Amino acid sequence: MMQQESRTLADVLEYAAVFHGQVELVSRRVEDGRLHRYNYAQALQRTRQLARALRGWGVKPGDRIATMAWNTHRHFEAWYAITGLGAICHTVNPRLFDTQLEFILNHAQDLLLLVDLSFLPIVERLRSKLPCLKAVVVLSDEACMPATDRPDVLCYESWIGGETDEVDWPRLEPDTPSSLCYTSGTTGNPKGVLYTHRSNLLHADVVNNSGVFGISCADSVLMAVPMFHANSWGLAYSCPMAGAKLIMPGAQLDGESIFELLDEHQVSFSAGVPTVWSNLLQSLRGTDRKLPCLREVVTGGSAVPRWMIETFDREYGVRLVHAWGMTEMSPTGTSSRLKTYMQSWSYERQLEMRVKQGHPVYGVAMKIVDDNGSQLPHDGASMGRLLVKGPWVVRRYFREDHDCVDADGWLDTGDIATIDPHGFMQITDRAKDLIKSGGEWISSVELENLAAGHPAVKLAAVIGVASEKWGERPLLVVEAERQASVTAEEILDGLRGKVAKWWLPDAVAFVDEIPLTATGKINKRLLRQQFRDRRPTADKESTVP
Ligand code: ADP
Repeated sequence: MMQQESRTLADVLEYAAVFHGQVELVSRRVEDGRLHRYNYAQALQRTRQLARALRGWGVKPGDRIATMAWNTHRHFEAWYAITGLGAICHTVNPRLFDTQLEFILNHAQDLLLLVDLSFLPIVERLRSKLPCLKAVVVLSDEACMPATDRPDVLCYESWIGGETDEVDWPRLEPDTPSSLCYTSGTTGNPKGVLYTHRSNLLHADVVNNSGVFGISCADSVLMAVPMFHANSWGLAYSCPMAGAKLIMPGAQLDGESIFELLDEHQVSFSAGVPTVWSNLLQSLRGTDRKLPCLREVVTGGSAVPRWMIETFDREYGVRLVHAWGMTEMSPTGTSSRLKTYMQSWSYERQLEMRVKQGHPVYGVAMKIVDDNGSQLPHDGASMGRLLVKGPWVVRRYFREDHDCVDADGWLDTGDIATIDPHGFMQITDRAKDLIKSGGEWISSVELENLAAGHPAVKLAAVIGVASEKWGERPLLVVEAERQASVTAEEILDGLRGKVAKWWLPDAVAFVDEIPLTATGKINKRLLRQQFRDRRPTADKESTVP
């Protein structure tokens, strides 16, 4: 029989401080862009000081404490101090609209808000509408504090500065809630996903295995995924668990700043959404700068274009690994890594697999079903609703009175996907973005990926427009690269022969800018509104387009 010891998130940092105490954490200060450097031992010391300050202020287990902050050492300390006390660290995405932020902060009933200087204007706008909020802690030192005479605005450095580092972390039950993250709510109000110590620890452990991130104490990791979105993909836990050097980019996610950190800190592993990597590639284009230390980059959050994987391979010798997940899954669900028998395949055939979202990580159960809930085969062609379950998948949204899963525990992800005989899942659409033409489904994602392969296309989005004849027809909306000239026909030529004829968009609409959501994804709801009155040309034709 084995011991029943359970672990808490605070134990992760305690472990890192003792056994990897000299390993560095580097973060870009929001105040002035300069780098702050210290190590895990010092991070623990300040985390303990913060825990004492929080406790002294009256924070109790179960209280919600919000953060609205970039990836920095102070934000890292907040994650561990809040959860270590048994309170709940609520990471708020500052890119949301004011009305959504007001809803989220009130719904969570946050007592305290730890906020970066860059987001103070948001707090000023919302403060009078947040009755539960008792105080605001500005993540800054005294020198950079804004002038205020409000007693409920505190300076982080002064607040923790007077504290000792003596804390007795409470022993917590494994299922104690630790953190709260709202999905951006493209439809309806945002919904809160409440992680627990157990779910976060299991998830962090899994992402550290070599089939997922594969981080070890030999790695220097740039955490380019924001801590305010989707639990920072578990990196804030998995790095100290592995004893990896951790680099946090602060407010600067532009290509130049990212390159500077990759280069100066010999980063070997990084993770972030595709936009971060296209910005990096853009800033490297035409220069002789290389990325000799970078072994691997994991990317996801939206589909990764094939050209990006190829460019990283061919020009920089960096393996770009496609992954898929969602806030509701802590967020990791799949990663796309080649199996032994695929190593001998041609590069082209390997790429076909690598652009897919990949196979589920161990611990996540996954299936695709039709509209009646019947399971579909793993034949790579049948498209169905993607269902998942597992110990780091949500069961019930925060403060809801009913579960969001079916009687067997399956969560409908809202994604439409295929699964091939190798177990590789590929997202073909969001259920709400699917285009149904003549009773058949058209994958907007597949068309977008093909259109984005044209060098003059910066962003491509495909939406369904109402058709009298076919129900819906696809319209391709394109934001072209600045100074590039391209015609609709040239773009459509790139699609011909690669998809069924009736999938070809009826038209291409050029726009100056494709609207994005708070999490940097294409805002199809706005696009659909914009093109609401558009009628497809197919309505005038008599045959299937
Ligand atoms: P938000 O709705 O707040 O953006 P998430 O970041 O949790 O929330 O988004 C999850 C959704 O993002 C998934 O359900 C899926 O539609 C999409 N997504 C995530 N990763 C990928 C990927 N690699 N390829 C395509 N879509 C993805």
